[in-house]
Amino acid sequence: MNLSLKTPIEKLPLIGPAYVKKLHRVGIETAGDLLFYFPFRYDDFSEVKKISEIELGEVVSVRGKIIDIQNIRTWKRKMNITEALIEDESGAIKSVWFNQPFLVRNLKKGANVSLSGKVVYAQEGLQLSNPSYELLGSGQSLHTARLVPVYHETEGLSSKWLRTHIKPILRLSNEVEEFLPVSIIKNQKLFSLSEAIRQIHFPDNEEKAKIAKRRLAFDELFLVQLYMILQKQKWQENNAIEIKFNKKLEKEIKDFVDSLPFKLTNAQKISSWNIIKDFEKNRPMNRLLEGDVGSGKTLVALIAALAVAKSGYQAAFMAPTEILARQHFKEAVRRFGNNLSTPQPPLSGGNLSSPLIRGVEEVIALLTGSESKIYKDGKIKEISKKKLLEKIKNGEINFIIGTHSLIQKKVVFKNLAFSIVDEQHRFGIDQRAKIQTEILGIKDGLKTVPHLLSMTATPIPRTLALTVYGDLDLSVLDEMPKGRQKIITKLVAPANRSLAYKFIRDQIKKGRQVFVICPLIDESDVLEVKSATQEYERLKNEIYSDLNIGLLHGKIKPKEKEGVMKKFIKKEINILVSTSVIEVGIDIPNASVIVIEGADRFGLAQLHQFRGRVGRGKHQSFCFLFTDSTSATTARRLKALIKSNNGFELAEQDLKIRGPGELVGIRQSGLPDLAMASLTDFKLIKSAREEAEALIEENDKLIRHPKLNNKLKKFTKKVHFE
Ligand code: ADP
Ligand code: MG
Repeated sequence: MNLSLKTPIEKLPLIGPAYVKKLHRVGIETAGDLLFYFPFRYDDFSEVKKISEIELGEVVSVRGKIIDIQNIRTWKRKMNITEALIEDESGAIKSVWFNQPFLVRNLKKGANVSLSGKVVYAQEGLQLSNPSYELLGSGQSLHTARLVPVYHETEGLSSKWLRTHIKPILRLSNEVEEFLPVSIIKNQKLFSLSEAIRQIHFPDNEEKAKIAKRRLAFDELFLVQLYMILQKQKWQENNAIEIKFNKKLEKEIKDFVDSLPFKLTNAQKISSWNIIKDFEKNRPMNRLLEGDVGSGKTLVALIAALAVAKSGYQAAFMAPTEILARQHFKEAVRRFGNNLSTPQPPLSGGNLSSPLIRGVEEVIALLTGSESKIYKDGKIKEISKKKLLEKIKNGEINFIIGTHSLIQKKVVFKNLAFSIVDEQHRFGIDQRAKIQTEILGIKDGLKTVPHLLSMTATPIPRTLALTVYGDLDLSVLDEMPKGRQKIITKLVAPANRSLAYKFIRDQIKKGRQVFVICPLIDESDVLEVKSATQEYERLKNEIYSDLNIGLLHGKIKPKEKEGVMKKFIKKEINILVSTSVIEVGIDIPNASVIVIEGADRFGLAQLHQFRGRVGRGKHQSFCFLFTDSTSATTARRLKALIKSNNGFELAEQDLKIRGPGELVGIRQSGLPDLAMASLTDFKLIKSAREEAEALIEENDKLIRHPKLNNKLKKFTKKVHFE
């Protein structure tokens, strides 16, 4: 039969209906798909030795004749053992297999075999334990005496089965279309795609396996980069409002910065400058501001918004929850409402007497599902939604802060020049798409869109950001404001739990508040993790029956959640028990202790984010870690958390210890396997990025590379990029 890459697997020789089903379940439909099912590691059976030369403990391959073979049943252990004696010209060795009685049907006395496995010591001397085997004379070896590929064995597909069925179609690799331009293959010293496919399955040696893997990983990273760069270009085809940074604006910004009760960090200055520079272009910015919890992202956003408002345009600031929106609104009022000479007004104050930014009519507004307010002439006022929408439409409001209420159709801006999205990873994919179409005015067919600033507290190492957020420009706040107190982090041994509880009670007596974080909602004996509900009941009934305890988890409705948070803010709750749903950006300066149960179950960066819930006020704060795990890895990871106060450092550590898949934001990125596995290979990522940039630079939109273009389309469809 004439096979091709497109031949359906059911037409391939020796694949029965049961296996067709299994293959379909892992998405393999054609011979080509099967060829692209790659192994993830190899068993190194490449050392072939004479029987007389093999040594205890090594993994070797031998070739010889079966002198004897038989099944033995051990009654005591209810096990079936197959024993064989193999002989070559130098000597003989025993080989044993456990619970594979069917072996005697294939391996008959007198047959020549190749065996690969570990040499162990048994009563009668050295023997091979459970070796891989195959008959000699049936062509090239597949399962022994070489680097043997090991595949992910899902849906009952064994590596042995896959090897047996991939080998005969390996020659189809010649038909695989080479989609990379020759110049890149040369530049990067890559295998051709067909050579890479042959070598990834059945490599000649380790070196070639490595080169093959590099080629295939390069492909994925390169395609990701192309996609990201093209997305970026597409975004930049839109127009944006130019905001000139003239002398007047420069003075306004300087005055504002001087009015702050603290100095900007260097990182804040650089990031603000990045944004202001982007504003000067008539192409829309698309920038990600990444910064640890408490690094002062909001202020950078406010400076940028001020530049926009002072230039007579509108800015919008979207937060994922009402509480955060309200918090940002208050912060904006506090900072912008501040006059040079007056002291800081209190956060809670509704009646601020100082005029808004020196006589100019800029107005700040808040719009959420349940609230609509404006700040004008030094006062916060309730206003009807209808009126607020009118004011937004006719441009009376310069800076509007809110939740996803802002992306409703009925919210129409007069001249929106700048949109900010806080905690951008918290918004759903469709909401993020809407930000770009609805709020941004593309809906009017104007093709004029606001400059876009996304903010995240998820510290993703730069190399990863380059891949996962490759369509965005990046500003990083890698520096904390001066004088931040260090949170004291302690791993609490189970025996000291009651001491910790006593300490917490003392803190509460002093008026402080406490967070308790639990990993899962529902009880799970298997994972031995306390459920938040159970923990809540326990604290309420057994430990702190005289205190007010609150509960938050993913199954509580958003409205109720907000209610609980409000109570916590008003200090009506002393201890808030929560799962990881707890707000990332929430600011409760009075909270001084955070307890994290089952700490081993979280990533370091995430633990660090939890820890950032406290230490936001003037009180010395504490983070208590509890774990039942006694593993060395857990100890190492938690020690890193105790030692380091830097989210980026911790993310890098996690990347090393647990791999990229465990980092928040990476798992959800939809990256394919090899690209994911290569995320620690900075050199490869950089090469892929540079080649992609160069190619697009010289060859806009890839028109002269139809094969590559085609491949890219298929690739983006397959990986479902957001
Ligand atoms: P995040 O980056 O986590 O969103 P915020 O923007 O909420 O952090 O900032 C946390 C707190 O730090 C706020 O109260 C803010 O006013 C304050 N802050 C911001 N920048 C500085 C600075 N340069 N020096 C001191 N405090 C600052
Ligand atoms: Mg924030």
